[in-house]
Amino acid sequence: MKIPFVDFNAPYIELKDALDAAYRRFMGSAWYVLGHEVEAFEGEYAAYCGSRHCIGVGNGLDALYLILRGYGIGAGDEVIVPSNTYIASWLAVSQAGATPVPVEPDPRTYNIDPDRIAQAITPRTRAIMAVHLYGQSAEMDPICALAREHGLKVIEDAAQAQGARYKGRRTGHLGDAAGHSFYPTKNLGALGDGGAVTTDDPELADRIRMLRNYGSKQRYHNEFKGVNSRLDELQAAFLRVKLRKLDDWNARRQTVARYYLEAFADQPDLIRPCIPAGSQPVWHQFVVRHPQRDLFQQRLADAGIATLIHYPVPPHLSPAYADSHFTQGDYPIAEELARTILSLPIGPHMVREQIEEVTTSIQRILHS
Ligand SMILES: *Cc1c(COP(=O)(O)O)cnc(C)c1O
Repeated sequence: MKIPFVDFNAPYIELKDALDAAYRRFMGSAWYVLGHEVEAFEGEYAAYCGSRHCIGVGNGLDALYLILRGYGIGAGDEVIVPSNTYIASWLAVSQAGATPVPVEPDPRTYNIDPDRIAQAITPRTRAIMAVHLYGQSAEMDPICALAREHGLKVIEDAAQAQGARYKGRRTGHLGDAAGHSFYPTKNLGALGDGGAVTTDDPELADRIRMLRNYGSKQRYHNEFKGVNSRLDELQAAFLRVKLRKLDDWNARRQTVARYYLEAFADQPDLIRPCIPAGSQPVWHQFVVRHPQRDLFQQRLADAGIATLIHYPVPPHLSPAYADSHFTQGDYPIAEELARTILSLPIGPHMVREQIEEVTTSIQRILHS
């Protein structure tokens, strides 16, 4: 049995009638940019996250960038980011003209370690970007307390965590503003690119609404040097269908994760992800660690099980940041994670036989 890493076909089959109807509604409307579908999705997604405002934008990277622009964070400013994240979190800061200042993760949860943030704060720090990596919320209470103490904004990178909870509260509504991605592989995935900002701050929401549309509220009256980054009507129509399924699909991911967690208990060579009390992850990825990761991954590939590494190169060692003069050893925890992590197949459409194939193959490999 071959186990793919993601299955794009099964979600379409499950939602075919509703997605096809959304497509026909969109075609019939003959309205393509910033119309009823985007407005309706913004209202529905804001309600889902529990936030007052939602602004649909072109993608997750733009969502984060527009939040920074909306707060006036740019040249000369510093933003604290996790050393262990997808590079987009850093790129948003760089694109705004500010400097990303990395802070190491807690290796058990893979998320930014709140105890290490204070020592990275300088007079130039303007914000902390908390990434809810792999679908699990960052430890938000101490992060928000530190931010309040130092007068900083808390920006959530919620790209991987649609629907996750922290102490009962939804991600996307845990800081001052949150950036969301609807890239097709995300838990709430469009059929193309898409993103959103959620916030309770009416002034920020107003500025981002303008910034995403050339910096204008009224056509040809440009108040800011804005960008063109709008959520498409067609994608919004699809996302409205998929949003109604999100909790169900997240619950199905949680079932796979519970199965994995139990099957891999008491395996000394396989480190399982840790779920702190109060955290309800939505398992965008199920990431384990193995001391001989490359060999382990090869054995899994031989058994027909596809796996991926999220991510093999930490941002500070990426050629994209060569100009920042980071070197190997600067962020040893992120580097160690990059050497040992492995993402197993997980998704709402994995069936029992596939889950069992993964667990029995892994147990066999670990014992051989
Ligand atoms: C996917 C992702 C982004 C960027 O989203 P895009 O829609 O691909 O631009 C940002 N941060 C994290 C953590 C992501 O996983």
